[in-house]
Amino acid sequence: MTEAVLHHIVGGTFVGSAQTRINQNPSDLSDIIGQSAEADPSVVQDAIGAARHAFPTWSRTTPQFRSDILDRAGSLILDRRMELGLLLAREEGKILPEAIGEVVRAGQIFKFFAGEALRLHGELLASIRAGVDVEISREPVGVIGLITPWNFPIAIPAWKMAPALAFGNCCILKPAELTPASAYALVAILREAGLPDGVANLVMGRGSDLGPVLLESPDVDAISFTGSVAVGRGIAARCAQVGKRVQCEMGGKNPQVILDDADLDVAVALALNSAFFSTGQRCTAASRLIVSAAIHDTFVDRLGCEMLALHVGNALAPQTRIGPVVDARQLQQDLDYIAIARSEGADVVGGARLSRETEGFFLQPALLLNTTSAMRINQEEIFGPIASVIRVDDDDEAVAVANGVRFGLSAGVCTTSLARARRFKRDLEAGMVMVNLPTAGVDYHVPFGGRKASSIGPREQGTHARDFYTITKTTYLG
Ligand code: NAD
Repeated sequence: MTEAVLHHIVGGTFVGSAQTRINQNPSDLSDIIGQSAEADPSVVQDAIGAARHAFPTWSRTTPQFRSDILDRAGSLILDRRMELGLLLAREEGKILPEAIGEVVRAGQIFKFFAGEALRLHGELLASIRAGVDVEISREPVGVIGLITPWNFPIAIPAWKMAPALAFGNCCILKPAELTPASAYALVAILREAGLPDGVANLVMGRGSDLGPVLLESPDVDAISFTGSVAVGRGIAARCAQVGKRVQCEMGGKNPQVILDDADLDVAVALALNSAFFSTGQRCTAASRLIVSAAIHDTFVDRLGCEMLALHVGNALAPQTRIGPVVDARQLQQDLDYIAIARSEGADVVGGARLSRETEGFFLQPALLLNTTSAMRINQEEIFGPIASVIRVDDDDEAVAVANGVRFGLSAGVCTTSLARARRFKRDLEAGMVMVNLPTAGVDYHVPFGGRKASSIGPREQGTHARDFYTITKTTYLG
């Protein structure tokens, strides 16, 4: 094996491990991207020590100093969008335009938080007591453990690291096992942009081995996690026990409601995007299409035809619209849910395992028809290019079905009526509501996050990110 081995980045030093992991391209299993070191707990301890050591100095740097570094990092990311996009598409399997778009988003996030570093402000109030002023200021939290999933391997690390660093925190990033190279590239760029040693550290390896080290260490002040509900809830529970600040963004089962007055061209286009783009592997993907009975048959016929016309293939091929599923385990999960759909009585359009010129995890998108809300396929997150259709008779039923799951991340409604849009905006139990837009696809300068089982803790992104990455101090000046 001649490919480069990515090392952990701890206190500015590259640290290897006896164990390594092979990073394989899901579009072409013969394409080995490289290898990454697999940390043992002692490497995480060292990373925590390095972050703790760097914190007193970093937290007292000027906002201008931090802003300049983040701005430079943003520029470097944007300059290298093609190279990083190619790496991301090979590593994760989303098609090249989507991968480049994600890299651009990461660059924009660093630029945005370069500005936020300068805008951090407090409040000054008159006290209820004479001769006293009350000042409310925000301080960095300290050392933060960042645990991220594979499906946005550069954007999610960016939207956690950028606010952490902007407000004077130090961090340890533990990326997903499947996508170490994108995270590595990001931390390497931060070093190149002038980030002092130890401020941002990278440890790669198994979450179940390394996560507990971050959770148990008294030198880690907070954890920001994005991933599955099962893991997130375990992390939140442990953080509550040990008294750590925690933020978890987790799964979804997002509804896209299509009402009978919808513009069908708009409805079909946004359903295709919401359900199948990025191979359905977005936490904000719509996996339940809730459709008014009056337009159900027409909508389903058109969507089915357009879905089957989407070219599935190698993420780097220009004609590909849907890349591969990320790995064998996720592919098996998708196929299992298609089998469950059949056993629950749904009719399945598409959903075939596909072979292509290269060996990869290719799956035809699937539409599950004649389903009901109570079925497992409409209650559990599948996380693949699979969407079910639920027919409803009126708006009340549409709202009830949309809200009838334990998740509440993103929800969409497609209608030409302002009154109906307003009603759905009010009644949908979701952190983000999209009117005549896909459920996925968000801005970076506004809050991101969900309700119910989808989220725990304060929102990520935009100005609201400061609620997690800073801690409030109230000073009484007599
Ligand atoms: P996952 O929960 O399996 O893993 C996420 C991260 O947690 C990885 O880095 C993993 O190594 C780590 N981990 C695993 N076990 C751990 C443990 N015991 N302690 C600490 N860390 C541990 O999720 P995944 O398969 O990488 O990602 C897919 C999931 O992420 C989906 O459920 C998706 O909806 C969710 N997601 C949510 C958002 C959001 O913002 N709401 C965004 C993207 C993905």
